[in-house]
Amino acid sequence: MPWFWRGLREGVVTTPYPKQSDPYADAFPAAVAVREDAPAITAEAAEGLCPTGAITADPASRTARVDRGRCILCGHCTRGRPDVFSLAHGAESAVTGRSSLTVPQLEETDEALAATRRELARRTGAFRRSLHIRHVDAGSDGSEEWEILALLNPVYDIHRLGMFFTASPRHADVLLVTGAAARGMAAPLRRTYEATAQPVVVIAAGTDACSGGIYGDSYATHDDGIRDVVDVDIWVPGSPPSPFSLLHALLLATGRLSASGKEAEA
Ligand code: SF4
Repeated sequence: MPWFWRGLREGVVTTPYPKQSDPYADAFPAAVAVREDAPAITAEAAEGLCPTGAITADPASRTARVDRGRCILCGHCTRGRPDVFSLAHGAESAVTGRSSLTVPQLEETDEALAATRRELARRTGAFRRSLHIRHVDAGSDGSEEWEILALLNPVYDIHRLGMFFTASPRHADVLLVTGAAARGMAAPLRRTYEATAQPVVVIAAGTDACSGGIYGDSYATHDDGIRDVVDVDIWVPGSPPSPFSLLHALLLATGRLSASGKEAEA
């Protein structure tokens, strides 16, 4: 009974995203950005800032670049060089190409990215408004799993969008893979991928899955994250990524978001 009264008192708590923007998602610090007016920085200074090697600087132009796929959002760079780095806010941090995780983006990747998006849309056209997700933990520290669990609570409630988790890869449209691609999980992940019906979309969820994260190349993990094991379609940076970023990736998988990030017509 107390739950009934609490429900009436609090009203609807479910996010309006993706139909409308959500102020909480818009304010959420999701990634590191390089300021447009950033001063030049030497390669040595850039590399010394970051514990995961996510920051580089072009030796000629001395322009800083951040590989969000390697960034664990420790905040060291934004505190140490606020004139160069800032936090980018918002839900829409998932991308369809690994190179797009590097900011500022290289112009020559635009054409390749458009082709990747077209190919993904062609493969996922059959999913339309229903999506079944198989989560695979390939060596996670558990943080991504907390965010994935949140997708089922009343705030995010992915069931309203026709998205469901399934226990079997046979029933899955999407493999949502977390973790730094532990060597011991390479074969199970590969077998899960092979057991999933085609077309399947693979989402690398979190920095560890995108690049191996802070573990990098070790006796236990792969240097390049899960792409050493399976072909990845969608990349979600963050350590861990917020539920909004995960939701953004799932909407990209269904083709329900346009390139601009707005919900596409049904
Ligand atoms: S916030 Fe990311 S890019 Fe900045 S120092 Fe930490 S890991 Fe490196």
